[in-house]
Amino acid sequence: MNVEEKLEKIEDLTSDFSLSRYNFLKISALIKLIEDTHNNIGDCDECRKNENHLENLIEQIPNLDDNTYRTPYEKEFNKIRTHFHKSHGYIPPYYFSARYSLMGIIVLLLLTMAIKLIFKLQSPDLLLAGATAGLAAGYLYGSYKEKIYRKQKKIV
Ligand SMILES: [Zn+2]
Repeated sequence: MNVEEKLEKIEDLTSDFSLSRYNFLKISALIKLIEDTHNNIGDCDECRKNENHLENLIEQIPNLDDNTYRTPYEKEFNKIRTHFHKSHGYIPPYYFSARYSLMGIIVLLLLTMAIKLIFKLQSPDLLLAGATAGLAAGYLYGSYKEKIYRKQKKIV
C-alpha cells in the first residue's frame, strides 16, 4: 500500500468512530507516523522497515477492543513513535510545557514558603498564588521551547 491507500484504509476503518474513540486510539498520531515515515524512507533504514509494520497496525484497527490485539498494537506503535524521538529529533506532545509547568510549581512553591518563613507571613493564599504563578511561568516557557518543534511539525 502507498501512503494514500493507507490513509484511505484508515478512513474506511474509522468512519463510524466517535471523536473520543478516535482520540483514544491515537488515530491522528498513526496518520502522522505513516506520513513522516514515508518522508524518511530515502535515508533511514528503520523507517523503511517500519513502513510494513505500519501497514500491519492499520489492519489491526478493527480488533483494538480486544486487549490481546491492543497490547501488541500499542507496543509496536510506541516503538515507531520512539524511533522518531530518538533518531529524527521529534518530541512527544507537551514535552516541555508539562516538564516546565511542574518545575515552575515546585520552584515558586519553595520560594513562597521561604518568603513566608523569612517574613513570618500567615496568609495561606500566598502558597496558592506562588504555585499558580509557577505553573503559568513554566507553561509559557515550555510552550515557547516547543515552538520550533511545532513549526517543523516534529511533535508526535
Ligand atoms: Zn527513521
